[in-house]
Formats: sequence, C-alpha cells, structure tokens
Amino acid sequence: MSNSLQVSFADVSEIESWEAETVISWGKTLVVAPHPDDESLGCGGAVALLRKFGNEVTVLAVSDGALSHPNSKKFPPAKLRDLRESEMTDALEILGVSADKITFLRFRDGSVPGELSDDFAAAVTIIRNHLAKISPQTILLPWRRDPHLDHLASWQIVKAAMADSRDDYRVLEYPIWLWERAENADLPRERNIKIHRLKINDATVQKQLAIRAHASQITGLIDDDPGGFHLSAEVLAHFDVPFEIYFEEIK
Ligand SMILES: [Zn+2]
Repeated sequence: MSNSLQVSFADVSEIESWEAETVISWGKTLVVAPHPDDESLGCGGAVALLRKFGNEVTVLAVSDGALSHPNSKKFPPAKLRDLRESEMTDALEILGVSADKITFLRFRDGSVPGELSDDFAAAVTIIRNHLAKISPQTILLPWRRDPHLDHLASWQIVKAAMADSRDDYRVLEYPIWLWERAENADLPRERNIKIHRLKINDATVQKQLAIRAHASQITGLIDDDPGGFHLSAEVLAHFDVPFEIYFEEIK
C-alpha cells in the first residue's frame, strides 16, 4: 500500500506549525466537503476550533454520498442519502455547527461534474451564487489533486466560481485520499504551495466523535452490502492525530 504523503513528509512535525488560535484570523469560514464525512476527516479539528473562538462556519456538502453502499436493499439511494445527511448534521453539531449552516447540493455521488463535464458551468453558477450569499473570508477545499474524482471536481467547481467573483477569498486545501492513494504527481510540487500543520489540541476529541457520527462509513450499520464502502482502520489512522494539514497557494 502506498502512502506517499507520509513518505514525502516522513516527519510531519517538521512542517511549519500553526497554533490553534491561528484559526481566529480565518474569519467567516466555508468548508467544502465533496462527501458527507470529508468535513470531519479533513477539517473537523479546525471547525471545532473556529466555533470555540466564535467564528462563523458554514458547510457545503457537494455530493449526496448515496454511492457508498450501492447494493443495499435496506438503504436504497434516497434512504442512504438521508442517512448520510443526518450523520453529517450530527457530526457538525458535535463540532459546534448547527443544521441551518449546512447546505446539501446533492450532486450524485461519483458524478460531481468536473471541468470536462457538460454540467460544469451550471454547477459553477450554483457555487458562485452560494459564495455571493455566504460571503466567506476563508474557504476550506479538498486538495486540488486529492485522488478521488469527486474531490477533484469539487475543487474545480469552487475555483472556477471564485475566479468569477469580485471577492477575495483565502483558500486552504486539505488532503483526504492523498494520505493513502497519492501518486507522486498528486503531491504538492508547486513552489508557491506552503504546507501548514494546524495543532488541533483539545479539539482532537471532538473531531474523533464527529468522525464516528458517520457510522454508515465506519461500522456495520449497513449490513446487507458486503462490497460497500467503509473507512478502514488504516485510513482512519491518518486522521486520528492532534493536527491537520492545510496547503496554501501563496499569491
Ligand atoms: Zn470524499
């Protein structure tokens, strides 16, 4: 099993560290999650800290998450979508974000329209309007080359929407599948990408509870689709650490 991110940064502690209080400067923050669970895995600690310090956090769930167990009879797509949305709502409540701050876009899991899709322009319009309504100062996005098509597409849609906007946003990109599946080409290689390590300190406990709220992805809750997706112990271990990694393009 490859583990390129860790191989490249064998000692993550050598990356420039941010103290927990750093998040105060992020201001009003929008978290873009390609699937319900990415918000907790990638940014759960930051979200808990942001809320602790009184920053407003809104969350955008891009896909409906309904492809994780495609053969379950007990959880056909609409029911699975509802389950995943309620898990995400519970997770975010643990992190201090109320249900009214979450927007579910419900693009089909596995089919979030990337820049080559016919539906890309329509998706960009939806996000552009959302940004205009929310006016975040900081946007947390999946890493631009995170190796999952929905993650790539989510990054592309939001970047295109931002390019059309008059507002200036700070963007921080978080890795999810980069930890486990990265090819060398997926890793940060641009000279103007800075890597930060945010100490999440006591928010680590909240983050772990939030991850566990996504029970359909971790436990045997859906027991009639043996081929269904689950987050393995190896994958979860990357997120069971007292820090989070954020990449930032320095302009
Ligand atoms: Zn995801």
